[in-house]
Amino acid sequence: MDIKVIAFDADDTLWVNEPYFRQTEERFCELLSGYLSRHDLERELLRIEIDNLALYGYGIKGFILSMIEAAMKITGDTLSIDIIKQIMDLGKQMLNQPIELLDGVEEVLESLKDKYRLVVATKGDLLDQERKLRKSGLSAYFHHIEIMSEKDDANYLKLLKHLDIQPSELLMIGNSLKSDILPVLNIGGYAVHVPYHITWAHEQIEDSIDNERFKSIERIKEVLELLK
Ligand SMILES: [Mg+2]
Repeated sequence: MDIKVIAFDADDTLWVNEPYFRQTEERFCELLSGYLSRHDLERELLRIEIDNLALYGYGIKGFILSMIEAAMKITGDTLSIDIIKQIMDLGKQMLNQPIELLDGVEEVLESLKDKYRLVVATKGDLLDQERKLRKSGLSAYFHHIEIMSEKDDANYLKLLKHLDIQPSELLMIGNSLKSDILPVLNIGGYAVHVPYHITWAHEQIEDSIDNERFKSIERIKEVLELLK
């Protein structure tokens, strides 16, 4: 391996993210528990979220709009202003959530920062991701922050071009096989999967990956062993 750049996914790789979406989804289901079963409420919300991805992109603001749209549909357009207000408050609480770094993250960045160029490659809402990075206190470790609308082959190729490196000089570390691993392997890069205990349904894939440029580890600190 001749790795020059190590790219880190942000949400659920550097810091906690998905649990806040789950908690909010639970509150959403409580608000509308008089209309449908929990299972059907969750399914309706997920369907609307996925339908809206192309329009709103990933992130909390799109999620708020999707919750409102789902609530309108579920209540047969009789949604009260009070519920809309409560949904918007849930979204604002998410946006104001403090950052909780995952175990070992800072130690890993500290030990790699002088040997590699470190970058963040994340998708989501630009303003929100910038705010989280600032609040994380990790900004100084990174040479470049790439906030992508979708983590696909084309956008990773753009990142390589921007960084002026070959695919085989990139190592991507992330919790999502679909977004952080498969596209990077497709374009010829190296990828390390660090699973997080919960994954959004839209990010889940069934396939197992067999590729010599791929490794899966339990904890982010194990990446230091892989790079020795
Ligand atoms: Mg992630």
